[in-house]
Amino acid sequence: MHEYSIVMSLMEQCESLALQNNAKGIEQVELKIGILSGVEPVLLAQAFDTFKLDTVCHNAKLIMNIQPLVLECRDCEQQSQVDERTIICPICNSNNTLVIEGEDMMLMQLVLDT
Ligand SMILES: [Zn+2]
Repeated sequence: MHEYSIVMSLMEQCESLALQNNAKGIEQVELKIGILSGVEPVLLAQAFDTFKLDTVCHNAKLIMNIQPLVLECRDCEQQSQVDERTIICPICNSNNTLVIEGEDMMLMQLVLDT
């Protein structure tokens, strides 16, 4: 499953950050998940709970912030925020748009237990 490999690399990232900061563990992991990232938050949370037990994240709480899509339209030159998976400008219905936000998943913040 896609989400499992994401969580695996997330845990590795957490482990190395905890190590760098001499932390005993991690209290909270905050993620930003773009709605076009292809990551399913429910599945990600399940994978996180499964994998965290053997890692530095075993006590960590997972917080997921869903990042809506931000489109920039090359025709009307407006930026719009949309909550659905579309690349159509809601202002002028053009599909000549650029995705500014909402395509990636990022680690926003870690709260370390030191
Ligand atoms: Zn437009």
